[in-house]
Amino acid sequence: MENLLTQINNLKDEINNFSSNDENIAEVFRIKFIGSNGSVKSLMAEMKNVAPENKREMGKELNDLKLLAENKWEELKKTTDNRHPTSGSTIDLSLPGNSLPIGSRHPISIVRNKIVSIFQRLGFAVAEGPEIEDDWHNFTALNLPENHPARDMQDTFYVSQDPAWMLRTHTSSVQVREMEKGKLPIRIICPGRVYRNETISARAHCFFHQVEGLYIADDVSFADLKQTLYFFVKEMFGDDFKVRFRPSYFPFTEPSAEMDISCLICGGKGCNVCKHTGWVEILGCGMVHPNVLENCGIDSKKYSGFAFGMGIERITMLKYQIKDLRIFSENDVRFLKQFESAV
Ligand SMILES: [Zn+2]
Repeated sequence: MENLLTQINNLKDEINNFSSNDENIAEVFRIKFIGSNGSVKSLMAEMKNVAPENKREMGKELNDLKLLAENKWEELKKTTDNRHPTSGSTIDLSLPGNSLPIGSRHPISIVRNKIVSIFQRLGFAVAEGPEIEDDWHNFTALNLPENHPARDMQDTFYVSQDPAWMLRTHTSSVQVREMEKGKLPIRIICPGRVYRNETISARAHCFFHQVEGLYIADDVSFADLKQTLYFFVKEMFGDDFKVRFRPSYFPFTEPSAEMDISCLICGGKGCNVCKHTGWVEILGCGMVHPNVLENCGIDSKKYSGFAFGMGIERITMLKYQIKDLRIFSENDVRFLKQFESAV
Protein backbone atom coordinates (compact mmCIF):
# COMPACT_ATOMS: atom_id res chain seq x y z
CA MET A 1 0.00 0.00 0.00
CA GLU A 2 2.84 2.34 0.82
CA ASN A 3 4.18 1.69 -2.60
CA LEU A 4 0.88 2.55 -4.30
CA LEU A 5 0.53 5.69 -2.20
CA THR A 6 4.03 6.79 -3.25
CA GLN A 7 3.13 6.21 -6.86
CA ILE A 8 -0.05 8.27 -6.45
CA ASN A 9 1.85 11.15 -4.89
CA ASN A 10 4.53 11.04 -7.55
CA LEU A 11 1.89 11.13 -10.24
CA LYS A 12 0.17 14.08 -8.53
CA ASP A 13 3.47 15.96 -8.65
CA GLU A 14 3.92 15.03 -12.29
CA ILE A 15 0.41 16.24 -13.13
CA ASN A 16 0.84 19.50 -11.27
CA ASN A 17 4.14 20.21 -12.98
CA PHE A 18 3.08 19.01 -16.42
CA SER A 19 4.22 21.21 -19.26
CA SER A 20 4.71 20.68 -22.96
CA ASN A 21 5.72 22.71 -25.97
CA ASP A 22 3.33 20.77 -28.12
CA GLU A 23 0.63 23.01 -29.63
CA ASN A 24 -1.95 20.40 -28.80
CA ILE A 25 -0.99 20.29 -25.14
CA ALA A 26 -4.41 19.15 -23.81
CA GLU A 27 -4.46 16.11 -26.06
CA VAL A 28 -0.89 15.18 -25.13
CA PHE A 29 -1.90 15.36 -21.46
CA ARG A 30 -5.04 13.32 -21.96
CA ILE A 31 -3.17 10.51 -23.69
CA LYS A 32 -0.40 10.46 -21.09
CA PHE A 33 -2.60 10.51 -17.97
CA ILE A 34 -6.30 9.87 -18.45
CA GLY A 35 -6.54 8.00 -21.75
CA SER A 36 -7.35 4.30 -21.64
CA ASN A 37 -3.60 3.51 -21.48
CA GLY A 38 -2.75 6.54 -19.33
CA SER A 39 -0.93 6.53 -15.94
CA VAL A 40 -4.05 7.31 -13.84
CA LYS A 41 -6.00 4.42 -15.37
CA SER A 42 -3.15 2.00 -14.79
CA LEU A 43 -2.85 3.00 -11.10
CA MET A 44 -6.60 2.53 -10.64
CA ALA A 45 -6.22 -0.97 -11.97
CA GLU A 46 -4.02 -1.63 -8.93
CA MET A 47 -7.10 -1.33 -6.65
CA LYS A 48 -7.78 -5.03 -7.02
CA ASN A 49 -4.49 -5.76 -5.22
CA VAL A 50 -5.22 -3.48 -2.24
CA ALA A 51 -6.11 -5.17 1.02
CA PRO A 52 -9.83 -4.84 1.87
CA GLU A 53 -9.19 -2.77 5.00
CA ASN A 54 -7.26 -0.21 2.97
CA LYS A 55 -9.59 -0.08 0.00
CA ARG A 56 -11.59 2.84 1.33
CA GLU A 57 -8.59 5.07 1.97
CA MET A 58 -6.88 4.10 -1.25
CA GLY A 59 -10.09 4.59 -3.22
CA LYS A 60 -10.27 8.16 -1.94
CA GLU A 61 -6.63 8.80 -2.86
CA LEU A 62 -7.16 7.46 -6.36
CA ASN A 63 -10.33 9.47 -6.77
CA ASP A 64 -8.47 12.62 -5.75
CA LEU A 65 -5.82 11.78 -8.32
CA LYS A 66 -8.44 11.29 -11.03
CA LEU A 67 -10.14 14.62 -10.18
CA LEU A 68 -6.79 16.37 -10.17
CA ALA A 69 -5.99 14.97 -13.61
CA GLU A 70 -9.41 15.89 -15.03
CA ASN A 71 -9.25 19.45 -13.68
CA LYS A 72 -5.79 19.89 -15.09
CA TRP A 73 -7.03 18.59 -18.44
CA GLU A 74 -9.92 21.10 -18.46
CA GLU A 75 -7.42 23.85 -17.70
CA LEU A 76 -5.12 22.78 -20.51
CA LYS A 77 -8.03 22.61 -22.97
CA LYS A 78 -8.69 26.30 -22.31
CA THR A 79 -5.01 27.05 -23.06
CA THR A 80 -5.21 25.16 -26.33
CA ASP A 81 -8.44 26.96 -27.24
CA ASN A 82 -6.77 30.31 -26.61
CA ARG A 83 -3.92 29.37 -28.90
CA HIS A 84 -6.38 28.39 -31.62
CA PRO A 85 -9.48 30.50 -31.14
CA THR A 86 -11.28 28.73 -33.96
CA SER A 87 -10.26 25.16 -33.18
CA GLY A 88 -13.15 22.96 -32.28
CA SER A 89 -15.47 25.24 -34.26
CA THR A 90 -17.28 24.23 -37.41
CA ILE A 91 -14.30 24.57 -39.77
CA ASP A 92 -13.58 21.24 -41.45
CA LEU A 93 -10.08 21.34 -42.87
CA SER A 94 -10.63 18.15 -44.85
CA LEU A 95 -13.23 19.80 -47.12
CA PRO A 96 -12.08 20.65 -50.68
CA GLY A 97 -11.24 24.32 -51.31
CA ASN A 98 -13.29 26.74 -53.39
CA SER A 99 -12.42 26.12 -57.02
CA LEU A 100 -11.60 29.01 -59.33
CA PRO A 101 -13.78 29.16 -62.43
CA ILE A 102 -11.94 27.98 -65.54
CA GLY A 103 -12.14 30.29 -68.54
CA SER A 104 -12.70 28.97 -72.03
CA ARG A 105 -10.38 29.05 -75.00
CA HIS A 106 -11.92 30.52 -78.12
CA PRO A 107 -12.76 27.76 -80.65
CA ILE A 108 -10.66 29.60 -83.26
CA SER A 109 -7.67 29.39 -80.92
CA ILE A 110 -8.32 25.71 -80.19
CA VAL A 111 -8.36 24.87 -83.90
CA ARG A 112 -5.40 27.13 -84.73
CA ASN A 113 -3.33 25.45 -81.99
CA LYS A 114 -4.32 22.04 -83.30
CA ILE A 115 -3.35 22.94 -86.89
CA VAL A 116 -0.05 24.38 -85.71
CA SER A 117 0.79 21.32 -83.63
CA ILE A 118 0.09 18.95 -86.54
CA PHE A 119 2.47 20.82 -88.84
CA GLN A 120 5.05 21.27 -86.13
CA ARG A 121 5.24 17.49 -85.90
CA LEU A 122 6.17 17.51 -89.60
CA GLY A 123 9.01 19.95 -88.90
CA PHE A 124 7.25 23.21 -89.84
CA ALA A 125 8.22 26.27 -87.79
CA VAL A 126 5.76 29.07 -86.97
CA ALA A 127 6.43 32.43 -88.67
CA GLU A 128 4.58 35.67 -88.02
CA GLY A 129 4.50 39.10 -89.66
CA PRO A 130 2.77 42.50 -89.53
CA GLU A 131 -0.96 42.89 -90.13
CA ILE A 132 -0.42 46.26 -91.85
CA GLU A 133 1.44 45.55 -95.07
CA ASP A 134 2.84 47.34 -98.07
CA ASP A 135 1.84 46.62 -101.63
CA TRP A 136 5.01 44.65 -102.42
CA HIS A 137 4.60 42.03 -99.69
CA ASN A 138 0.84 41.68 -99.99
CA PHE A 139 0.52 41.73 -103.81
CA THR A 140 3.39 42.47 -106.14
CA ALA A 141 5.92 39.94 -104.86
CA LEU A 142 3.18 37.32 -105.00
CA ASN A 143 2.83 37.69 -108.77
CA LEU A 144 -0.01 40.19 -108.60
CA PRO A 145 1.50 43.26 -110.30
CA GLU A 146 -0.49 46.46 -110.46
CA ASN A 147 -3.58 46.19 -112.67
CA HIS A 148 -3.46 42.40 -112.45
CA PRO A 149 -7.11 41.29 -112.58
CA ALA A 150 -6.51 38.89 -109.67
CA ARG A 151 -6.26 41.86 -107.33
CA ASP A 152 -10.00 42.21 -107.73
CA MET A 153 -10.38 38.80 -106.11
CA GLN A 154 -9.42 40.32 -102.80
CA ASP A 155 -11.25 43.43 -101.68
CA THR A 156 -8.76 45.33 -99.64
CA PHE A 157 -8.83 47.85 -96.77
CA TYR A 158 -6.30 50.56 -97.68
CA VAL A 159 -4.94 53.09 -95.23
CA SER A 160 -6.78 56.27 -96.31
CA GLN A 161 -3.85 58.66 -95.67
CA ASP A 162 -1.48 56.48 -97.70
CA PRO A 163 -2.92 53.79 -99.98
CA ALA A 164 0.55 52.25 -100.34
CA TRP A 165 -0.29 50.59 -97.02
CA MET A 166 -3.12 48.18 -96.36
CA LEU A 167 -4.44 45.56 -93.94
CA ARG A 168 -3.04 42.28 -95.23
CA THR A 169 -5.55 40.22 -97.20
CA HIS A 170 -3.74 36.95 -96.56
CA THR A 171 -0.80 35.66 -94.53
CA SER A 172 1.13 35.00 -97.77
CA SER A 173 2.88 38.29 -97.03
CA VAL A 174 4.65 36.51 -94.16
CA GLN A 175 5.89 33.90 -96.62
CA VAL A 176 7.35 36.65 -98.80
CA ARG A 177 9.19 38.10 -95.80
CA GLU A 178 10.59 34.67 -94.92
CA MET A 179 11.72 34.00 -98.50
CA GLU A 180 13.43 37.40 -98.65
CA LYS A 181 15.60 36.42 -95.69
CA GLY A 182 17.30 34.04 -98.11
CA LYS A 183 17.75 31.14 -95.72
CA LEU A 184 16.91 27.85 -97.44
CA PRO A 185 15.34 25.38 -97.07
CA ILE A 186 12.16 27.00 -95.74
CA ARG A 187 9.50 25.02 -93.94
CA ILE A 188 7.06 27.35 -92.17
CA ILE A 189 3.44 27.84 -91.28
CA CYS A 190 2.01 31.31 -90.82
CA PRO A 191 -1.09 31.57 -88.63
CA GLY A 192 -2.66 35.01 -88.35
CA ARG A 193 -5.53 37.42 -88.80
CA VAL A 194 -6.36 38.84 -92.23
CA TYR A 195 -8.81 41.48 -93.47
CA ARG A 196 -11.04 41.85 -96.49
CA ASN A 197 -13.60 44.43 -97.35
CA GLU A 198 -16.52 42.03 -97.56
CA THR A 199 -20.14 42.28 -96.60
CA ILE A 200 -20.61 40.48 -93.30
CA SER A 201 -22.81 37.40 -93.61
CA ALA A 202 -23.12 33.85 -92.24
CA ARG A 203 -20.24 32.76 -94.47
CA ALA A 204 -18.04 35.87 -94.77
CA HIS A 205 -16.59 38.51 -92.46
CA CYS A 206 -14.36 41.55 -92.84
CA PHE A 207 -11.70 39.80 -90.78
CA PHE A 208 -10.84 36.15 -90.36
CA HIS A 209 -7.91 33.87 -89.60
CA GLN A 210 -5.68 31.91 -91.89
CA VAL A 211 -2.93 29.38 -91.62
CA GLU A 212 -0.66 29.25 -94.62
CA GLY A 213 2.21 26.87 -95.16
CA LEU A 214 5.33 27.04 -97.29
CA TYR A 215 7.99 24.46 -98.04
CA ILE A 216 10.90 25.33 -100.31
CA ALA A 217 13.91 23.10 -100.92
CA ASP A 218 15.81 21.78 -103.92
CA ASP A 219 13.57 18.85 -104.84
CA VAL A 220 10.03 19.53 -103.62
CA SER A 221 7.30 17.97 -105.75
CA PHE A 222 3.51 17.98 -105.97
CA ALA A 223 3.61 14.48 -104.43
CA ASP A 224 5.19 16.00 -101.29
CA LEU A 225 2.38 18.55 -101.19
CA LYS A 226 -0.31 15.88 -101.42
CA GLN A 227 1.28 13.66 -98.82
CA THR A 228 1.68 16.53 -96.38
CA LEU A 229 -1.94 17.57 -96.76
CA TYR A 230 -3.24 13.98 -96.55
CA PHE A 231 -1.44 13.69 -93.24
CA PHE A 232 -2.92 16.99 -92.06
CA VAL A 233 -6.58 16.19 -92.81
CA LYS A 234 -6.24 12.74 -91.29
CA GLU A 235 -4.86 14.18 -88.07
CA MET A 236 -7.42 16.97 -88.07
CA PHE A 237 -10.64 15.15 -88.93
CA GLY A 238 -9.89 11.40 -88.54
CA ASP A 239 -9.97 8.55 -91.06
CA ASP A 240 -13.62 8.47 -91.91
CA PHE A 241 -13.82 10.50 -95.13
CA LYS A 242 -12.51 10.86 -98.67
CA VAL A 243 -10.18 13.52 -100.05
CA ARG A 244 -9.95 14.99 -103.55
CA PHE A 245 -7.88 17.63 -105.32
CA ARG A 246 -9.52 19.91 -107.89
CA PRO A 247 -7.54 22.04 -110.36
CA SER A 248 -7.85 25.72 -109.52
CA TYR A 249 -6.22 29.09 -110.12
CA PHE A 250 -4.13 31.26 -107.78
CA PRO A 251 -1.67 33.84 -109.12
CA PHE A 252 1.07 32.75 -106.72
CA THR A 253 1.01 29.00 -107.46
CA GLU A 254 1.26 26.93 -110.63
CA PRO A 255 -0.21 24.35 -110.85
CA SER A 256 -2.87 25.21 -108.28
CA ALA A 257 -5.47 23.04 -106.63
CA GLU A 258 -8.23 23.11 -104.10
CA MET A 259 -8.60 20.32 -101.64
CA ASP A 260 -12.03 18.97 -100.72
CA ILE A 261 -13.05 16.40 -98.16
CA SER A 262 -16.27 14.42 -98.23
CA CYS A 263 -18.90 16.19 -96.13
CA LEU A 264 -18.55 15.33 -92.45
CA ILE A 265 -22.18 16.19 -91.78
CA CYS A 266 -23.98 14.02 -94.34
CA GLY A 267 -21.17 11.56 -95.03
CA GLY A 268 -21.14 12.51 -98.71
CA LYS A 269 -24.86 12.01 -99.37
CA GLY A 270 -25.58 15.73 -99.79
CA CYS A 271 -26.87 18.35 -97.35
CA ASN A 272 -27.12 22.13 -96.89
CA VAL A 273 -23.56 22.45 -95.59
CA CYS A 274 -22.04 20.83 -98.68
CA LYS A 275 -24.65 22.45 -100.94
CA HIS A 276 -25.78 18.94 -101.86
CA THR A 277 -22.50 18.07 -103.56
CA GLY A 278 -21.22 15.73 -100.82
CA TRP A 279 -17.89 17.66 -100.77
CA VAL A 280 -16.58 20.63 -98.80
CA GLU A 281 -13.60 22.71 -99.79
CA ILE A 282 -11.08 23.09 -96.99
CA LEU A 283 -7.97 24.65 -98.50
CA GLY A 284 -6.15 25.99 -101.54
CA CYS A 285 -2.67 24.87 -102.51
CA GLY A 286 -0.15 24.52 -105.30
CA MET A 287 3.48 24.67 -106.36
CA VAL A 288 5.00 28.11 -105.72
CA HIS A 289 5.03 30.10 -108.98
CA PRO A 290 8.59 30.61 -110.35
CA ASN A 291 7.88 34.37 -110.57
CA VAL A 292 7.25 34.46 -106.82
CA LEU A 293 10.52 32.64 -106.11
CA GLU A 294 12.45 35.02 -108.38
CA ASN A 295 10.72 38.08 -106.86
CA CYS A 296 11.98 36.96 -103.47
CA GLY A 297 15.53 36.32 -104.68
CA ILE A 298 15.32 32.52 -104.92
CA ASP A 299 16.70 30.70 -107.98
CA SER A 300 13.62 29.02 -109.48
CA LYS A 301 15.80 26.71 -111.63
CA LYS A 302 17.39 25.29 -108.52
CA TYR A 303 14.61 25.42 -105.95
CA SER A 304 10.95 24.48 -105.92
CA GLY A 305 8.32 24.52 -103.27
CA PHE A 306 4.70 24.16 -102.36
CA ALA A 307 2.32 26.43 -100.49
CA PHE A 308 -1.12 26.00 -99.04
CA GLY A 309 -3.59 28.14 -97.14
CA MET A 310 -6.75 27.57 -95.20
CA GLY A 311 -9.29 29.63 -93.28
CA ILE A 312 -9.35 28.69 -89.60
CA GLU A 313 -13.01 29.76 -89.32
CA ARG A 314 -13.93 27.36 -92.09
CA ILE A 315 -12.14 24.41 -90.47
CA THR A 316 -13.66 25.30 -87.10
CA MET A 317 -17.16 25.46 -88.59
CA LEU A 318 -16.69 22.03 -90.11
CA LYS A 319 -15.18 20.53 -87.00
CA TYR A 320 -17.83 21.83 -84.59
CA GLN A 321 -20.69 22.00 -87.11
CA ILE A 322 -21.21 25.73 -86.69
CA LYS A 323 -23.42 27.28 -89.36
CA ASP A 324 -22.80 31.02 -88.92
CA LEU A 325 -19.30 32.44 -88.56
CA ARG A 326 -20.52 35.74 -87.10
CA ILE A 327 -20.90 33.93 -83.76
CA PHE A 328 -17.09 33.74 -83.47
CA SER A 329 -16.85 37.49 -82.86
CA GLU A 330 -20.06 38.16 -80.94
CA ASN A 331 -18.60 37.32 -77.49
CA ASP A 332 -21.71 35.38 -76.53
CA VAL A 333 -20.77 33.60 -73.30
CA ARG A 334 -23.37 30.87 -73.90
CA PHE A 335 -21.50 29.91 -77.05
CA LEU A 336 -17.97 30.35 -75.68
CA LYS A 337 -18.45 28.45 -72.44
CA GLN A 338 -19.09 25.27 -74.43
CA PHE A 339 -15.35 25.24 -75.12
CA GLU A 340 -14.31 25.43 -71.45
CA SER A 341 -10.99 23.74 -70.99
CA ALA A 342 -7.82 23.89 -68.95
CA VAL A 343 -5.60 23.53 -72.00
ZN1 LIG B 1 -23.14 17.38 -96.61
